Amino acid sequence: MGTKLKIWKQGQFYQKLGKKIIDLPYQVNQGPSDHQIKIGGFTVQPDKDGNFLDRNYSEDELDAIHTYGVTRLVIDLYENLFEKPLKWIWQQNGSDEPLTIRIRNNDINARYLKDQKCIELDYYGPYKNWTYNCRTVDLVAHETGHAILDSILPFLNEGNAETKGLSEAFCDLTAMFIVLSQYDLCEYVIEETRGDLKLNSILTLFAAGHGFSKGPNKESRSALNDIKYNRNEWSPYHYSQVIVGLLYDLFCEKFNKNERRVNDDAENLYQIGQVWIAGITNTFMECGADSNLNDFGRKLLRCFSNEMGFIEKHLKKRKIF
Ligand SMILES: [Zn+2]
Repeated sequence: MGTKLKIWKQGQFYQKLGKKIIDLPYQVNQGPSDHQIKIGGFTVQPDKDGNFLDRNYSEDELDAIHTYGVTRLVIDLYENLFEKPLKWIWQQNGSDEPLTIRIRNNDINARYLKDQKCIELDYYGPYKNWTYNCRTVDLVAHETGHAILDSILPFLNEGNAETKGLSEAFCDLTAMFIVLSQYDLCEYVIEETRGDLKLNSILTLFAAGHGFSKGPNKESRSALNDIKYNRNEWSPYHYSQVIVGLLYDLFCEKFNKNERRVNDDAENLYQIGQVWIAGITNTFMECGADSNLNDFGRKLLRCFSNEMGFIEKHLKKRKIF
């Protein structure tokens, strides 16, 4: 028995895209919850058909349903890639406690807290309106990415700035994977960019609404960048942007040079996306505790052997090699 629920397609800052119904191929408990995730403080009841659609849900409850749905999409994406169920790091040590996602702290945080077995997606403001981090799909995907990476390669979250940069890159890439794995969003990217991926779109922009520095609805980072590696930078986000920028260049190259191109750019985007996602995930899975960007670059060359020339050129351009 499957379960239907409604999520924002991309978030509150993309009102034009609005919401959509997703159909999960399994039963979801009240909360919504399951053995892997629960929304802290919520016990939202399903409707008479077992879905989360046809009751008079409050705004708080709709946020709980949305956040659960997006987190599930991320977990399901990686479980399909790994072909096995994910277990949180504490579940590997005997606890069966699910990951709790807290969506109603009055603060500006969006973060994964291993010790508390939770993700915090706070709300803050108001500017014109309140900003709810849980409504921004890429933030939910990013923080879920941290929890997933911690369950597979825990050392990446704990290393130096460069190693942490790889983990931040994995999480921003997770947000991109979520766009690329939904055909309707691929259609929207093509519509938004008219097929020119060198223009910013929902695929390239991250963390809208997170923090005050650029205003409440400006994105914090973009995959469209030409930031070069600088070994003296202290911020993990410097290194993550170098890697995400490099991988997005590779994605654009694969999209533009696609030899099996069909007469539907959204379909091309979706198909190329699946190959790109698998290659990147494989590259990350080869990382070790002392991995840095140079090491990641060498692993990338192995996982994308057909694009070696292009990747090598761009690794040099980004000063990683
Ligand atoms: Zn992060």
